[in-house]
Amino acid sequence: MTEPTDGTSRKLRELAQNLWWSWQPDIRAIFRNLDPVLWSAVYHNPVALLERIDPDEVTRRVQDLELQTRIDQAHRLLQQYLQGGESWGVTHAGPILARTVAYFSAEFGLHQSLPIYSGGLGVLAGDHLKSMSDLGAHVVGVGLLYHQGYTHQLIDENGWQQDLYEPIGAEELPVEPVLDAAGEQARFSVELPGRDVFLRIWRVRVGRSDLLLLDTRDDANSEKDRELTARLYGGDQETRIQQEILLGVGGHRALGVVGVIPSVLHLNEGHSAFALLERGRELVERTGVTAAEALREVAAMSVFTTHTPVEAGHDRFRPELARPHLEPLALGLSLPLDEVMDLGSEHPGDLAAPFCPTVLALKLTRRANSVSALHGRVSRKMWMGLYPGKTEEEVPIGHITNGVHVRTWLASDLQNFYGQHLGPSWLDRIALPELWAKADAISDAELWEIHQVLKARLFTFVRRRLAERRQRLALPAPEREPLSPETLTLGFARRFATYKRADLLFQDLDRLARLVNDPERPLQILYSGKAHPRDTGGKALAQRVANLEKDPRFAGRIVFLENYSMHVARQLVQGVDAWLNTPRRPLEACGTSGQKCILNGVLNCSILDGWWAEAYDGGNGFAVGSGDVHANPEVQDERDALALFEVLETEVIPLYYRRDAQGIPHGWMARVKRAIRTLAWRYNADRMVMDYVRQCYMPAAGGETCRMP
Ligand SMILES: *Cc1c(COP(=O)(O)O)cnc(C)c1O
Repeated sequence: MTEPTDGTSRKLRELAQNLWWSWQPDIRAIFRNLDPVLWSAVYHNPVALLERIDPDEVTRRVQDLELQTRIDQAHRLLQQYLQGGESWGVTHAGPILARTVAYFSAEFGLHQSLPIYSGGLGVLAGDHLKSMSDLGAHVVGVGLLYHQGYTHQLIDENGWQQDLYEPIGAEELPVEPVLDAAGEQARFSVELPGRDVFLRIWRVRVGRSDLLLLDTRDDANSEKDRELTARLYGGDQETRIQQEILLGVGGHRALGVVGVIPSVLHLNEGHSAFALLERGRELVERTGVTAAEALREVAAMSVFTTHTPVEAGHDRFRPELARPHLEPLALGLSLPLDEVMDLGSEHPGDLAAPFCPTVLALKLTRRANSVSALHGRVSRKMWMGLYPGKTEEEVPIGHITNGVHVRTWLASDLQNFYGQHLGPSWLDRIALPELWAKADAISDAELWEIHQVLKARLFTFVRRRLAERRQRLALPAPEREPLSPETLTLGFARRFATYKRADLLFQDLDRLARLVNDPERPLQILYSGKAHPRDTGGKALAQRVANLEKDPRFAGRIVFLENYSMHVARQLVQGVDAWLNTPRRPLEACGTSGQKCILNGVLNCSILDGWWAEAYDGGNGFAVGSGDVHANPEVQDERDALALFEVLETEVIPLYYRRDAQGIPHGWMARVKRAIRTLAWRYNADRMVMDYVRQCYMPAAGGETCRMP
C-alpha cells in the first residue's frame, strides 16, 4: 500500500501491526468495512488486507463510509492504551514492570492469522499475554516463528484428514523484524551438534506486551537447518530436540540481544526447559559463580507450568540423542555431561535413562504449578518419584486454574449487552465476584434473543464452510439443509486427541439416532477439530465423525466442520446451545474451550474433569457421570457413554424444550445466568494472570533482585 498524504494509511498500518485490534470489535469493524469480501478472503488478517487492497479503494471507502473519525479515534485509543497510566499492574506488579517476566512457549494462539498454535496450550499462552497487557503487567513472550505454521486440515471424500502446509510470507503476518544497531535484522547463533545455527528475531506487538519470535531462515544456515523452524510439532525426535534448544537456549539469548534482562522466567510447558540451563550457563560465565550456585539462582527466579498428565505429552529423548545436544551447555556450566543428563532424568545415575525436559523443569524451578485443582493432585502423584521422602501432598506442585481472555472470546453483541447491565467499564472488573452478583437481573427474553441471533450467524457460517467443501470435492447438494435453527445444538470442538473421546456418543448409534430424529425434541451436533498429522488414531476419530453424515439418519444433523481454528472456535462457542466435553478423566488437565462459553450464554455439559471438576455446582451447567474412574478404560468409556445419554435425555433436552408461551426456556436461562454468576469471575484470564503475578512472579522476582548486578 502506498503512502497517501493524510496519514490515514500510517494509522491503519499501526493499528494492524498491534494485535490489540483482535480484541477491539470497533477496530475489526473498520478493517471489515474497508473491503468485506477481501477481509473474509484473507481470513480477517488486517496486515494481509492492507497489503493487497488498492490504496485508491481505501481512500474511496474511507470517504464513502465516513471512516476517518473512527480511524482517528481508534488510533488515539491505541496510543492511550499503550501509554498505560493507572492500572492494576502499576499497583500490584511494580517490580515486574521494572524488570519484565519472560514467558516461553512453543506455541502462541493469538489470532488465526498468525498460525503458530495447535490447540489449547497455545491459545492459553495467547490469552495470557493479552490479559497481562490489559492489566498493565505486560510480559515479553518468547517463541518460534513457524513459516509453514501448523497443519491445515482438509477432509477428503473418504472422511480422512489431509494435511496441508502453506508457506506464509512475513509481509502478511503481524510481525516486524527486530533491527540491530546497523539497521539489519538482529541475528545470533546457537550451537547444535557439529555446527552453529543462526536465528533471526521478529517482534509481534500484543497490546502492551511484546512477543519475540525466532526463525532459522537465515542465509548462513544449511538448507536443512533453515527448515528447522518450518512447522509446529512437525518433525521427528531430532527435529524436536533441536527446536527445543532453539526455543530455550535461543529464546534466552534473544532476550539478551534485544536488551531485556528478565526478573522471572516462566516456562509454559517443558518444551522451553533448556532456557534454564542457558540462564545458568550465562550466570557462570558472567559472574564466575559455581554451577550449583547459578542453578540455585535460576530456580529462584523461574516458574514452570505443566499442562498434561498424558504421557505422550512429555518428551523423553534417548541419551544418544540428548547428550550431543547438551554438551555445549554442560561445558559452559563446567559440569560433567553425566550430571547435566541427570538433571533431566527420573533415574539419576542410570546412563540408559531418557532425558525428559519436564523433569529438568521441575528440578530447576522453585515454583511449579499445574492448571486445575484435580490436575494438581494428578501431577503430584505423577511426579512423586522426583521428590524422595515426600508424601504425595508434600510434592511441591501447586495449581493455578486456567482462564480465558474474555475480550477475545465474547461475542461483541454481548459485550454491549453486558455493558448496559453492568456499567460501561465492566470488562475491567470481570475478576470481581461482586460484579456478577447482578447477573440474575438479566432479562431471559433479551439474552435469549441475542443468543438466537448468534446461533443464526453460526449456522450461516457453517453452511458456507460446508458448501465450500462440497464444491472442492464436487459433491452433490445435500438432501436436507444442514442444521435446523429451532433444534437444540451441541458443539464439540478441540484437538482430536483420542483421550478427548469425540466419539463417545457413537457407542450407541441407534440411541443417538433416536435423539437426533425425535419429532418433538430433536438434537443436532457440530463437531470440529484437527488430529496431529502423525496421530492415525486421532485421524480415525475425525473420520468416524465426518463419515456419519453419509448415514441418512445423521445427514445434516451431525456435522463435521473441517480446519478448526481460533476463528471457528469463536463462532462455535458463541452460537451453539451447549458445549460437550467428554475427556477420559483425569486426562484433561484443565480444558478451556468450555470457559469461552460461559459469558456467551452457552451451557457446559461435561465430564467432571479438569476445570469442570471444580466449577460445577449442581446448577450452573450439566455434569456427565459423577467423576468415577475405572481401572479399565473400556469400562470407563462404556459407563461414561451411558451417563452422557442419561443426562442428555433426562436433563439437557427436556430443559431446553420447556418453554413459556413466548417460546422462552426459563429453566434453561436460569442455568445460563447461574453459570454467569458463579463462573464468569473466576474462569477468565485476568483472574488467572493475577494469580500468577501474586503467587509466582512477585516472589520469583523478589528472590532475584537483590542478587543481580
Ligand atoms: C480454546 C481452544 C482449544 C482448547 O480446547 P479444549 O477443549 O480446552 O481442549 C483448542 N483449540 C482452539 C482453536 C481453541 O480456541
